[in-house]
Amino acid sequence: MKRLLLICINARYTHSNLAIRYLRNYVSDLAYELKIIEFSINQKFLEILEQIAHNKPDILAFSVYIWNTDLVRLLLPEITKILPDSKIILGGPEVSYNPKDWQQNFPEIDFIICGAGEAGFRYILENNLNISDAIIRKKNPIFSGIPFPYILSDFHEISEKYIYYESSRGCSFKCSYCLSSRSDQLLEFRDIEIVKKELVFLIEQNPRIIKFVDRTFNAKKEHSREIWKFLIKLNPKITFHFEIHPELLDEEDMQILKNCPKNLFQFEIGIQSTNPETLEAIHRTNNWIKTSKMVKQLISFDNIHIHVDLIAGLPFESIKNLERSFNDIFNLGADHLQLGFLKVLPGTEIAENVKTFGIMSSNTSPYIILQNNWLTFAELNRMHKIETLLDAFSNSNKYKMILKHLILKFDTPYVFFIEFLKFLQSRNYDLQTKNWKKNAFELFQFAIESFPDVDKFFFDCLKWDWCLQAKSHYYPEFLRCETDSVAKKIGYEYLNSYKINNKIVIDEIDIFASDVKKAIYFIPLSDEFKQLYFPTSDVVAFINGEPSPLKISN
Ligand code: SF4
Repeated sequence: MKRLLLICINARYTHSNLAIRYLRNYVSDLAYELKIIEFSINQKFLEILEQIAHNKPDILAFSVYIWNTDLVRLLLPEITKILPDSKIILGGPEVSYNPKDWQQNFPEIDFIICGAGEAGFRYILENNLNISDAIIRKKNPIFSGIPFPYILSDFHEISEKYIYYESSRGCSFKCSYCLSSRSDQLLEFRDIEIVKKELVFLIEQNPRIIKFVDRTFNAKKEHSREIWKFLIKLNPKITFHFEIHPELLDEEDMQILKNCPKNLFQFEIGIQSTNPETLEAIHRTNNWIKTSKMVKQLISFDNIHIHVDLIAGLPFESIKNLERSFNDIFNLGADHLQLGFLKVLPGTEIAENVKTFGIMSSNTSPYIILQNNWLTFAELNRMHKIETLLDAFSNSNKYKMILKHLILKFDTPYVFFIEFLKFLQSRNYDLQTKNWKKNAFELFQFAIESFPDVDKFFFDCLKWDWCLQAKSHYYPEFLRCETDSVAKKIGYEYLNSYKINNKIVIDEIDIFASDVKKAIYFIPLSDEFKQLYFPTSDVVAFINGEPSPLKISN
């Protein structure tokens, strides 16, 4: 029996690949010895090559994406040297829209499957690879007719990783930068009863997170609502990730989502721009009033992690417009704002219009924009730096209290980030630093140099942020003050005075006595902070990361 190796190189170790599992299960009845092998792009090149060679495959099938295309290009010639008799099949979005270029550059490729690959893959194998045409385009059966991609043994390998699932394929929207907008990506839904059965199987495997890869999960209301209600009823200790379109939400959806248990769902919401001219040029719907209303409402429920996306480098988005989009989207108050950059993907409408928009992008993946008619290379570069700061300081959610107050002192969030960037650059600070204390120190210096009259208040804010993550009563040097030991003494003694056996129970506090030792105690320096957050308490004990204001004096 011929040995067939299905290979995917994932963007991260925590990712798993769905496409190669679909392929495997779609041909599992054929007489081939099938094996899946997954790598991450961070693995050593030789290690990947060695593992592929070790399997001595007769046929290799690669799933090629924007994140692994460079590595696959490097691997192909080397594979041919060490496995000269093996046949090579490529599929995936990176090869689907320029197969001739791949053929020309890599004569070692035997077949390229374009588009959704199940039927094409089966066709090649059923014909024992005796097909004259090397570029394969085959129409898939209906989506519900394609078998569930997972088998039980997959979970020995991937139970700790993200598990991907799709209840629909394709997209009805026409965003010009996206491959899913192509006419060959028609929207199809999986039968809802099949979806439920498959979800029950996945839930039984108890992964940490299941990511729906449906391009717009709420494209069909009955479908999305049924799944949401089903999962809310089951309420497993798993997080489900969905990409949704806020303009398609309505009151009935909101009623369902309002009652969703905390952390059961997380939503990714692509807004991309709030500039009407830009949205029109990229064919995205444009109802900012509804979008902002729905996103704000979702955020107000405080039960779903909300991630919003903005793309820099779109047509008609000058730096002024981009600044406005940034502020509009930042001010929604989502948990995470991802500032992305236009990627000019081969096969998209925007790739065909680069001349019209003056777009220059990198020749190799990720085909990232370098400049266009509205943004210079320098402006885009500065936005990349803002992205770094946004991730380290805002998206990390580790400096929430100080940022909440500090940003308000600037005209807009964008102005804050620009000024902070200038400050860090003037100090030759390494923007890639991930260390909380180093970043906090810089942020604090920036805050007190910008607003010296409220230095004590910012000190308290940052100290509060530290307390939320501290594991014991310890403060970094720049956050120490004379009240620290007093706070510990009175907080510790107060909690212990309520000790009965090994428990401490006071009002809303119900903890083990051992937790008191690990608590961190906080008394603010500024009256302003105290008045704002715990006017009637004397000290705050952070127990297991949760603040508990304590009223010591009667
Ligand atoms: S960006 Fe999203 S909504 Fe637009 S075409 Fe792509 S998948 Fe569909």
